[in-house]
Amino acid sequence: MTRIDRRTALKAGGVLALAALASCVDNESATAVPPSPVAAGPSPAAARPTLSAAAAPDWNGLRSGLDGTLFLRGESGYPAAHQLFNPKFDSIQPAAVVRAASTDDVRESILFARQNGLVCVPKGGGHSYVGASTVAGGLVVDVGPMSSVGYSDDVVTVGAGAKLYDVHAQLDKDGRSLPTGTCPTVGVAGLALGGGMGVHTRTYGLTSDRILSMQVVTADGVAHTADPTQDADLYWALRGGGGGNLGIVTSFRLATIPASRLGFFTLTWPEEAATAALRGWQRFAHEAPATAWANFHIDAQSSGTLSIHAVGVSTTGSAAAAAEQLESFVGAKATSRSITVKTHMQAVTYLGGGTTSARTGFLAGSDVLRGPMDAATVTRLLAVVKAAARAKVPASAILDPLGGQAAKQPQGGAAWPWRSALGVIQWYSGLPAHPSAAALRAAQNFLTSGHRAVAGASAGGYVNYIEAGRSVSSYYGSSLARLRAVKTQYDPTDFFKASHAAFG
Ligand SMILES: Cc1cc2nc3c(=O)[nH]c(=O)nc-3n(C[C@H](O)[C@H](O)[C@H](O)COP(=O)(O)OP(=O)(O)OC[C@H]3O[C@@H](n4cnc5c(N)ncnc54)[C@H](O)[C@@H]3O)c2cc1C
Repeated sequence: MTRIDRRTALKAGGVLALAALASCVDNESATAVPPSPVAAGPSPAAARPTLSAAAAPDWNGLRSGLDGTLFLRGESGYPAAHQLFNPKFDSIQPAAVVRAASTDDVRESILFARQNGLVCVPKGGGHSYVGASTVAGGLVVDVGPMSSVGYSDDVVTVGAGAKLYDVHAQLDKDGRSLPTGTCPTVGVAGLALGGGMGVHTRTYGLTSDRILSMQVVTADGVAHTADPTQDADLYWALRGGGGGNLGIVTSFRLATIPASRLGFFTLTWPEEAATAALRGWQRFAHEAPATAWANFHIDAQSSGTLSIHAVGVSTTGSAAAAAEQLESFVGAKATSRSITVKTHMQAVTYLGGGTTSARTGFLAGSDVLRGPMDAATVTRLLAVVKAAARAKVPASAILDPLGGQAAKQPQGGAAWPWRSALGVIQWYSGLPAHPSAAALRAAQNFLTSGHRAVAGASAGGYVNYIEAGRSVSSYYGSSLARLRAVKTQYDPTDFFKASHAAFG
């Protein structure tokens, strides 16, 4: 099909176009992607493409129909286009990457993948912990070029390819912000679809809690506006169900928050105070006002010791009271203490370690804490990081609080399942770009030991900190059954095969 033919067909009706394309898929016995049921029944012979069963994908046809760019394996530009944030996944080679510049590009890519039996995965910022935004031999649809940020009347419209730093920098010009995570290059798409936790979570909720509507192209090539009144099930599922499962989101509308000054504190305790400090942090996560947030870091040092500190933020602009409250819950003054105030953009840059972030190797996973851990669990958790320190494995347990506004959203109002949880432990092990098998094994042992140590207190995992080999149900809690129903409704042939978190 020429570019004009293809566009005309799509605009005439995605279902009709799909019927034509999927009927062609029917003819290809080797197809890996089943045809959509919407294509069942006779389709207009005149509209039927004339592909033979053995036909290779018509990449030139796809390329000529795109507003964006297609990179095939072996072409210049492909090495950069297929990379993710974590170099560990460099060896995964998709057949092609579409850098999609428009919703039409996304639709054409989906329909092309269906026609040619290619597994198709969306890519936003490329930070997936498990490399879910790439696929060997398949088609990656990178929404990166769709990165516009437009603000009006407290609402921001963000292209799904926007990265967090760019969203903040643009919104700051209007004195507005969003509750997001901290890494400047994380994609708004992956973050928001899986939840999105950060320093504003307790005051304003998750990133996904701010979503007013989304544009999303489903497996049949149809573009939907998902909001509380249209495609409401899809709207529900995409707010916490994780990326890659239900369609390719092309843009978001989100309710903004003020870009206010933030008060910061950092408190450090000696290793001997680790138990008291962690138990004090748990009380803080439970009882501190919604304007106060602090995460807790337990880092293995190469000397075999533990470094213990908390980084806190107050959205009132002054962090002194929050720091004092945490110290009082710990029952011991911190050995080092710093209190600062930062403007919105100073805070964004400080938390993100700059305006961009270099590609980094790591292995990580998570446990969602149902409530405060008992004394024995705290002891086991600390022992796991200590064992890693002794074995010289780079390892951290980082505990982020939930609660506040994140807990006030109605349970079941969105797919994010952890409204009543105390917080999330992230088990993180830094790795070289291309780690040895032994280094990977040591990192995996740390994660496994961490899960085991807190098993009694864990409700499951955070889908944005997804890890290989973990049961899918552990990421979705009480939302799993409804997510499966939404999957059946919008992607009955399981075209989007989210490799590690598929709830279909
Ligand atoms: C360094 C670093 C820091 C992080 N910090 C935080 C943090 O502070 N808070 C937090 O909550 N999380 C954080 N995360 C986790 C992060 O939220 C997830 O990894 C998130 O999925 C990344 O989104 P992405 O778009 O960058 O990644 P991608 O790898 O592009 O996408 C992640 C998943 O979403 C799918 N997807 C991507 N784009 C779309 C789309 N347009 N439509 C549908 N599906 C799509 C992909 O197929 C994949 O399954 C961090 C991750 C890293 C690596």
